[in-house]
Amino acid sequence: MNLPFLPFAKPTIDEATIADVAQVLRSGWITSGPKVQAFEAALSEYFGGRPVRTFNSGTCTMEIALRIAGIGPGDEVITTPISWVATANVILEVGATPVFADIDPVTRNIDLDKLEAAITPRTRAIIPVYLAGLPVDMDRLYQIAGKHNLRVVEDAAQAIGSTWKEQRIGSFGDLVSFSFQANKNITSSEGGCLVMNNADEARLAEKYRLQGVTRSGMDGIDVDVLGGKFNMTDIAAAIGLGQFAHLDAVTRRRKALAVRYFDLFGPDFEQSTGAQLPPRELQDSNWHMFQLVLPERIKRADFMSRMMELNIGIGYHYPAIHLFTLYRERGYREGLCPIAERVGRQIVSLPMFATMQDSDVDRAVDAVKSVLQ
Ligand SMILES: *Cc1c(COP(=O)(O)O)cnc(C)c1O
Repeated sequence: MNLPFLPFAKPTIDEATIADVAQVLRSGWITSGPKVQAFEAALSEYFGGRPVRTFNSGTCTMEIALRIAGIGPGDEVITTPISWVATANVILEVGATPVFADIDPVTRNIDLDKLEAAITPRTRAIIPVYLAGLPVDMDRLYQIAGKHNLRVVEDAAQAIGSTWKEQRIGSFGDLVSFSFQANKNITSSEGGCLVMNNADEARLAEKYRLQGVTRSGMDGIDVDVLGGKFNMTDIAAAIGLGQFAHLDAVTRRRKALAVRYFDLFGPDFEQSTGAQLPPRELQDSNWHMFQLVLPERIKRADFMSRMMELNIGIGYHYPAIHLFTLYRERGYREGLCPIAERVGRQIVSLPMFATMQDSDVDRAVDAVKSVLQ
């Protein structure tokens, strides 16, 4: 077989976007400018008119959200161990303490009962993550947050285009953070955006992203908070705008690919292999990833190399964060979140991107079945 390599993710930039980027490069203004403003306006409209600001990564977007919420030393923030390490790193970055609650083995998202049980008098915020684009029970999430007076910083990095009861993720809730990193459903090469509650938060976000600066009049400038350098460039925003135009089509295509995956794996796949499919959530998820949890009898690395021999790329998203050295050194241990630890060892991401062909799904499913027998 000499079929070409099938990656697990692949961005597609159309020619109009490439032309737009070239125009920005020739314009004489390549940092934050009119393209950033246009991208933020488009996103704000998409999220029901809520204020939106862009940044140069999803990670700094989360960090700024925590600063806006006033989270700092002495505060506990509850989150899931099954996420990109950025989710917990930003908690450490603002000087707060991450508290990990175990996941639900079916959704692979934070278990809201365990989240609620982890609340202490020092808890100030919660960071739910919508793994693979699947939201948690948003009604329950905000009911818990309201009852305990907690801020919510939604790590919706993977969830643009996802919904809850027909409402877009980001169009409601507290602080909602998205990423436009290269592998996300839409990209700006690197970047992120934060959806906020009001104009005061948006002004604070602008300060945090650019050295705490406020300008006024012809030559007025003051600095009253410690900000950093987190602004998005017009080059990135031009890519983001070009991608944003395809968001609905991308989400539809990904759902169709997910349906094909489920159809081809068939009703007996889990029983006959011991592998676990994702929940068949075709309403709310944007299908950022299609992930299997492998049976214990096969090592993930072996599965990945055998898929690689068949020319198919496999991702692993994600090993449990609390078992990384940085976290072990802070006292987190094996056994803290047993479900997350098992899933984190055995989870794999199959190829999933909008320009994938139906025949690519067929190939991926055949390969998985042959490797798992
Ligand atoms: C991508 C991602 C991030 C970080 O976003 P970057 O843009 O790469 O900084 C954070 N959390 C989750 C769940 C992600 O998938």
